[in-house]
Amino acid sequence: MQTGRGNNQAEQPTGLVFDIQRFSVHDGPGIRTTVFFKGCNLRCFWCHNPESYSPRPQLSVYPDKCVGCGRCVAACAYGCHTTADGVKHAVDLTRCAACGACAKVCVAGSLVMVGKSMTVARIMKTVAADAPFYKNSGGGLTCSGGEPLLQADFVAQLLRAAKEAGIHTALDTAGNLPYEVIQQALPYADLVLFDCKAMDEAAHERVTGVSNKRILENLGRLAREGIPIWVRTPVIPGTNDTMENMREEAEFLSGLPGVKRLDLLPYHSLGAGKYRSLGMELDPSKVLTAPPKSEMERLAKAFEGADYELVVN
Ligand code: SF4
Ligand code: SF4
Ligand code: SF4
Repeated sequence: MQTGRGNNQAEQPTGLVFDIQRFSVHDGPGIRTTVFFKGCNLRCFWCHNPESYSPRPQLSVYPDKCVGCGRCVAACAYGCHTTADGVKHAVDLTRCAACGACAKVCVAGSLVMVGKSMTVARIMKTVAADAPFYKNSGGGLTCSGGEPLLQADFVAQLLRAAKEAGIHTALDTAGNLPYEVIQQALPYADLVLFDCKAMDEAAHERVTGVSNKRILENLGRLAREGIPIWVRTPVIPGTNDTMENMREEAEFLSGLPGVKRLDLLPYHSLGAGKYRSLGMELDPSKVLTAPPKSEMERLAKAFEGADYELVVN
């Protein structure tokens, strides 16, 4: 769990958030506000939110926006920034202490801090502003990440505040936690979005860095308790895009009473620029391409006849 206390937020617990997306239509029913929490205990090699990996604030760098003003050089006490001829800017992120001083003086938007400590009240101000949209569309608040349950206490408080305000709540998790941690948020979640990435344990470990044993156990247990669940399976070329994997998943999900919907989500490369901005050498878009619709429809056949809704995105 990641909490802190801001100077002007005495006694108020905070969660570390890297984005709040309003008017989202991909994270549960209706129009939603999705709060993205920092920190993840998986390392899916195709991840489009690499800024979620670290449970701490980070500096991200967008060189194309730099105007060479040199203000960051003076602002940084760690000597991370240099400029050559007063124009060409370079930054050494290995020395960065994520203090945020350079981002504050960079008016060009070339330096941006990722990860902000926020109180429940502060987040709820943004969430509640869109209440009319939730009401008309059946939407609400979704807590996502990263893995939001790495900040389970805070996430439970946020979901609870939304429920008390009459707002529909959804929790988006990869499920790699002790069941007791998941349970902390359940009383306040109307819906759980649960990732199911690959059925073969060795393959899952190879592409996400962790076994799927606990994840599948948690999914089965949640679903048998009757909590409404939308399962979300990303389709990653060369990784889980086989009929064998999909059939195995269909068999696993069959008869689980809580499973109401399965989303098959094609890989997309929208997060590619984020890897560069965080100084990460990895870039999945160099080795992956989005599967065509025909391939998505072929794989969806494995779930034909299921008693839950099947959505091919
Ligand atoms: S402050 Fe921003 S715009 Fe100025 S040199 Fe540094 S990175 Fe470039
Ligand atoms: S965030 Fe702080 S330590 Fe990191 S580069 Fe900027 S000023 Fe230096
Ligand atoms: S679980 Fe989600 S956020 Fe975490 S690494 Fe995998 S895709 Fe990225």
